[in-house]
Amino acid sequence: MKITVIGRGAYGAALGKIMEENGHVVRFFDKVDGGIVDAVLDEAEAVVLAIPSEFVEGFLRDFPARFRELPLILATKGLLSPDMFSGFREFGVLSGPAFAVELNEHKPTTLTATSRLAQQLLQTAWLKIELTDDAKGVMACGTLKNIYAIEAGFRGLEPDTPAFAEYIQTALVEMKNIIQWLGGRAKTADLACGILDLVLTCGSTKSRNYQFGRQLAKNPAHLPSVTTEGLTALQSLPKNLPKPPLLSDIFQKVVNNPDAIFEQLLKANERYQDTTQNDADISRTLRTKLFREGQHPCAVIVTCADSRVVPEDIFMVGLGQLFTIRTAGNVIGEVERASIEYAVLHLGVRLVIVMGHSGCGAVGAALEHNHETSQDLSKLIGVIASHIGNATDEPTAVKRNIMAGAEAITSDASLAQLIQKHQVKIAKLYYDTQSGMIEVVA
Ligand SMILES: [Zn+2]
Repeated sequence: MKITVIGRGAYGAALGKIMEENGHVVRFFDKVDGGIVDAVLDEAEAVVLAIPSEFVEGFLRDFPARFRELPLILATKGLLSPDMFSGFREFGVLSGPAFAVELNEHKPTTLTATSRLAQQLLQTAWLKIELTDDAKGVMACGTLKNIYAIEAGFRGLEPDTPAFAEYIQTALVEMKNIIQWLGGRAKTADLACGILDLVLTCGSTKSRNYQFGRQLAKNPAHLPSVTTEGLTALQSLPKNLPKPPLLSDIFQKVVNNPDAIFEQLLKANERYQDTTQNDADISRTLRTKLFREGQHPCAVIVTCADSRVVPEDIFMVGLGQLFTIRTAGNVIGEVERASIEYAVLHLGVRLVIVMGHSGCGAVGAALEHNHETSQDLSKLIGVIASHIGNATDEPTAVKRNIMAGAEAITSDASLAQLIQKHQVKIAKLYYDTQSGMIEVVA
């Protein structure tokens, strides 16, 4: 057969080589983040897709309709919605414990596939392709094993120890429950794409996932500098997925870790200072996903209502990321505190930011003892005045007002308790309205 392999990473190349050895004609195409040229598919009789999972959706969206008749084999590991493949006549998933190096050396290996074609193209004396019809289960296995590998690294587990064996046992039980919740079959985890890949991935102490876990154990705010599949996988899980204990623990450490989120926001602000537009995700797809799965923002931010202080832009985030509370002079009263409590207690947010800014009209009015004719307004200015005390310059006044805001949060008993137990982090920020720069207030 004539096969087109899309994505010429080491894995795609290794699969292509096996098919060539099996007598097929293989053509490679390595553009992953753009459209596909017709010439690449013109003579193809089947397509193998081996591009990073984050590119698959966009890639398939642009896939020419007339080529959707071709059988498609997805060799990318990731939790993808089967809806993405609905326009294709024949679609299969291939997953399992295979490293390009070992495939190239013809080491005995078993992979799991949901398409008979994958078996026909790839099976050899040393490469067994076992079949199942549970595409959801296979995709879930390929995603979850990378997540559990992060925790294996965090714990520093060595493959030849009882602790490692026990960890695998627990992870496998959790995987089965999650697969079922995702609409797959628990027993798929007993196939090569499940247990075998889980053992191999968690035991690969040099892998990116494992090493990311190691770094995280040393520094809770550590962010990977390279694409780490397990992190991408964690972020791709449905937000409303009920998390069993081990997965929940990993999620709190990696995705919902207030120190790491804080670092990410500060890094994003560096980009903001020199950009002209915020290209964060506000797409229809995300709107639909958030509506369906509910909101799980990464941080609460209380800041000024000032139109020049837009937190979603300052931190370059799209929909569903920040739970934003804005009042003139970022004053936190009962109502604002209740909103914070809601986000923390009901949405699971663990980072609360209080952010004031330079050139703040409300703080300025308090500094200058402006007389307000409106009762409400003079009350608000009065509160800020009590925060800034004897400060005479604006930066000091703004910062004292920020500190007072943070204290107002801790005056709530349930929040104070969570802060004390390090479940929730309070961060204080000063925003320079002109430069766009953020300063951490100690
Ligand atoms: Zn202001």
